[in-house]
Amino acid sequence: MEPASFLVEVSEKEIRRERQKARELRASQWWKRKRATGICHHCGQKFPPKELTMDHLIPIIRGGKSTRGNLVPACKKCNADRKYRLPFEKPDS
Ligand SMILES: [Zn+2]
Repeated sequence: MEPASFLVEVSEKEIRRERQKARELRASQWWKRKRATGICHHCGQKFPPKELTMDHLIPIIRGGKSTRGNLVPACKKCNADRKYRLPFEKPDS
């Protein structure tokens, strides 16, 4: 019997494609404006824009896409903390 799985099957090809799309969006005016606010989506603190990384709300390996609605600026700490986690899987909630 299959274990109840929340993992989405994502192929290498799809991952590469979404990462490429993310790279393209990172160079866009939309992203530059978003990052220029300097505010981390997760902790709400202000950082120099250069320190903010592009974070997928739903990670690509979980089936998330590189779309504007799924991409947020995150500080390095938050990005590292929530790697591969979904928003409702925060350890302290
Ligand atoms: Zn943060």
